[in-house]
Amino acid sequence: MIPFNRPHLTGKEIGFIQDAVATGKISGNGKYTALCHAFFQKRYGFRSCLLTHSCTDALEMAALLLNIKEGDEVIMPAFTFVSTANAFVLRGARIVFVDSLPDHPNMDAAAIEALITPRTKAIVVVHYGGVACDMDTIMSIAERRGLFVVEDAAHAVDARYRPKGKDPVPLGRIGHLSTFSFHETKNIISGEGGMLVINDERFVQRAEIIWEKGTNRSAFFRGQVDKYGWVDVGSSFLPSEITAAFLFAQLEALDTIQGRRCAIWEHYHRRLQPLQARGHFSTPVIPADATNNAHVYYLVCRDLATRTRLIEGLKECGIMAVFHYQGLHRSPFYSAKHDGRVLQYCDALSDRLVRLPLFADLTDQDVDRICDVIDVVMP
Ligand SMILES: *Cc1c(COP(=O)(O)O)cnc(C)c1O
Repeated sequence: MIPFNRPHLTGKEIGFIQDAVATGKISGNGKYTALCHAFFQKRYGFRSCLLTHSCTDALEMAALLLNIKEGDEVIMPAFTFVSTANAFVLRGARIVFVDSLPDHPNMDAAAIEALITPRTKAIVVVHYGGVACDMDTIMSIAERRGLFVVEDAAHAVDARYRPKGKDPVPLGRIGHLSTFSFHETKNIISGEGGMLVINDERFVQRAEIIWEKGTNRSAFFRGQVDKYGWVDVGSSFLPSEITAAFLFAQLEALDTIQGRRCAIWEHYHRRLQPLQARGHFSTPVIPADATNNAHVYYLVCRDLATRTRLIEGLKECGIMAVFHYQGLHRSPFYSAKHDGRVLQYCDALSDRLVRLPLFADLTDQDVDRICDVIDVVMP
């Protein structure tokens, strides 16, 4: 059987956890949390980082930091995971969904401006498969209209935006805030795990307070205040050192993991791109202003029946391929609250996109086998 995903272990996770336990401090914000924060700050130039239990948590922190209130509007793609929207709905926001691009699951930046009203507070972008959204356009709209930008960078670790003629910028460093996921299905993992990145200086101090249950405990431990107390809203957003130790082992191996994932992605592409000519599916397009971090390898089938046939054909050979993201504007929870606009490209992807197995321990023989089956099932 070839599973859709298998968590990759670097071999150092247990040793680091053992070390964390031996220090006698396994609650949050200890040595390994600091090591993880420092890693991200150094490698990607993030202003400030806070590990969380999940990307979902980091998105909820973002909604708290932006003071999202009942009746505020937040613009985001419909083709995304439920947490992107839920975090803002929890604070009473109305979600204004944007369609995908004709040739990519990312949101259509050109459609944003027309959706802005006096109630709009923020734009949340999702870099699907680690492919950068059109951030120059989105940041300039946000600046002009006085909006905040949150990058849901759950897929986007080690990916970059490289607009023509400019230096590449790591994803997660462009918006005011950004959120990462280390869930076991992502590139870098800690079981459950996530991180909030604060790029806008104005949010740095308050983020730490919200992270520590609404207290100024972090400042207390740095000796900046002589006692700590309840100073704001917050929750327990910080993960234990056990999670951070696991994550740090993964971060030390980031280049190896990414190298392997990219090789697998290229292998799929070499084999499957030529099969596009048969008309059953198309292969992913990486735009010129984005890099590829090999988070997903997906096919967009001609129609729903073709996708079902492909998934079934693979399953009969013991290969697990999955679809995901049913457009949130048509979800049971939100369809009645959606403003009724048809989002044709998102709807098409909901019916037609399929993800193939992609994890660091997938072998070249596995990839060849998967491609052989696709070759036979989609003649
Ligand atoms: C996985 C994912 C999330 C949620 O991440 P968790 O760490 O599981 O909470 C949010 N947004 C997107 C786009 C995701 O893919």
